[in-house]
Amino acid sequence: MEQTGLEQIYIPKARFVYWMVMLNRLKTRDRLKAISVIDDDLCPMCGEASESADHIFFRYPWSCQCLRILNSWLGTNISSLSSIKPSKWKVSKFEKKTITTSLCSLIYQIWNARNDSVWNFKLILPSVLMQSVKLEVKHQLYSLYPHCVKDVISLF
Ligand SMILES: [Zn+2]
Repeated sequence: MEQTGLEQIYIPKARFVYWMVMLNRLKTRDRLKAISVIDDDLCPMCGEASESADHIFFRYPWSCQCLRILNSWLGTNISSLSSIKPSKWKVSKFEKKTITTSLCSLIYQIWNARNDSVWNFKLILPSVLMQSVKLEVKHQLYSLYPHCVKDVISLF
């Protein structure tokens, strides 16, 4: 199995969702339809495509905007679930931790936003969601690596 990068993740509540996404085990509508739990797998956010993990996190325009902000923030070029391969990134160990933790936080917060849109019929702006991601990542990394964060403080 491809290395998931889980050993790089320091946000415990987000680790589980990230792991489920990497293994394609999240209860997305395409999977629920495949096991006959539901009949309709249409994405609850856009209503224009089948709801798969790749659609929610990397294809839906709203999440694409979140991902663009993340890529521009970190200087990365992540475009799909299959492009998440921490073992192949040619960056320092701490940068790898920063990217993986950020991606994990993004995926967790997108999943929360998706659930909020399903249950409460509201969707926050990508820029607002990304502010939460940045704060969470900064807080998490700073509490564990205060001396290292100084080197990438411009990111925050
Ligand atoms: Zn959609």
